[in-house]
Amino acid sequence: MLNFRKVYIVVFIVSVIGLAVIQYQYLKIGLNLAKVQFNTKVGDALQTVKKDLSTQNELTFLMEQAITGNDQYFSLSVDSIQDASKHFLNDFLIDRFLEQGVKTEFSYRLFKNDSIVYLTSPNYVVSENKSLTYPIVLSGYLPERTQKRLILEIQFEDINRYFLSQLNGLTIPSLIFIIAIILVVIWVLRSFYWQQNIITKTNSFINNLTHELKTPVFSIGLATKLLEEKATDSQKPVLKIIREQNAKLKTHIDKVLDLAGLENTKKLITLTKGDFYPELKKIATSFQEISKLEQVNFDYSLEEPPYYILFDATHLENAINNLLDNAKKYTKTDPHIELKAFKENTNLIIQISDNGIGIGKKQQKEVFKKYFRVDTGDLHPVKGYGLGLSYVKEVISRHRGKINLISDIGKGTKVTITLPLKEQ
Ligand code: ATP
Ligand code: MG
Repeated sequence: MLNFRKVYIVVFIVSVIGLAVIQYQYLKIGLNLAKVQFNTKVGDALQTVKKDLSTQNELTFLMEQAITGNDQYFSLSVDSIQDASKHFLNDFLIDRFLEQGVKTEFSYRLFKNDSIVYLTSPNYVVSENKSLTYPIVLSGYLPERTQKRLILEIQFEDINRYFLSQLNGLTIPSLIFIIAIILVVIWVLRSFYWQQNIITKTNSFINNLTHELKTPVFSIGLATKLLEEKATDSQKPVLKIIREQNAKLKTHIDKVLDLAGLENTKKLITLTKGDFYPELKKIATSFQEISKLEQVNFDYSLEEPPYYILFDATHLENAINNLLDNAKKYTKTDPHIELKAFKENTNLIIQISDNGIGIGKKQQKEVFKKYFRVDTGDLHPVKGYGLGLSYVKEVISRHRGKINLISDIGKGTKVTITLPLKEQ
């Protein structure tokens, strides 16, 4: 159980990390695609810019005056002309970029080859990241009129943040989903271990309680025996009731302890090699005696010995008695019960069949579960804990055997135990 828990947790952590890495890779691919796309858009926009600036128009004319420092066309100072062309050029560039869907911040510089700067955008800052700088060499009207080799350089700032903001539609939901998965799994694991804890505590409580009950039951039995020796005839029937009921109580306690014991300590079964025939014969004969008293038809047929198997006498005997007990309990009228044992290939087969009420197809899978009982809707239901078959199954599997149940409602039930035979 504990090892499985570790495996689950490791698988979960690895999966979440794997998912996060894949997301990160996707993000990188997305970012690269966004960059390629951005480059194309900017390239297209700059083509238009270059074309528009190569002809004479209001903007290029104003820029020409600003570059040459000529104030004779406008009734303004050179400074004001430069200021105006800065702003008009800025607006012009914004428009061209917007046409291509580029909405991020940028700044520009217009300079000559020998790095004399003529115009800079109002928000110009010097950036170290040259990779996001796009220079274009102007042609046509402006260089011809100014007799200068002019370069317009556009520079984008904080471009990664722009890309990320474009991808936010993907990254934030995927982060939220990963976190949601983590939270749900933690919640499931927590409630699972919480329940496990309760089950363990309940089991050990039942175990302790039944152990505590054993001492008084034993004392009552002893005291009754002592009283019976000197009892008068009128007292004897009463003492008999006490003794019988006490014995019943003891078998109930033993049943619970058997199962609890099997679960608590894995080593409680000690398998020893031997002939199981004498044990089985003993079980069969003593069940036959009880059956006679209770008007139950019981037959047994055992193939000749020996039955060499690895077994724990007490538990295997308990298991078979549990099956016989069920066969008797769940048969209402004219009970016919049969116990068969035979060797088949390398296995010992033990079969217990009855002509009882049977079990429905659906419930057949459930009967081996702890505390499961078929609800017959009976007013006077057969008493039981629903522990018998789960105990039997546990015992048989510890004997490396198999158990199989075939049943038909109203016709009866056949339980087959297969145990591996050993060399003598
Ligand atoms: P316990 O054995 O703990 O006293 P139980 O007999 O109810 O109680 P199981 O032996 O585990 O518990 O059996 C589980 C259920 O399977 C029973 O309640 C019964 O409904 C059904 N069942 C078991 N054996 C038979 C059978 N031979 N015929 C019909 N129904 C059966
Ligand atoms: Mg039972």
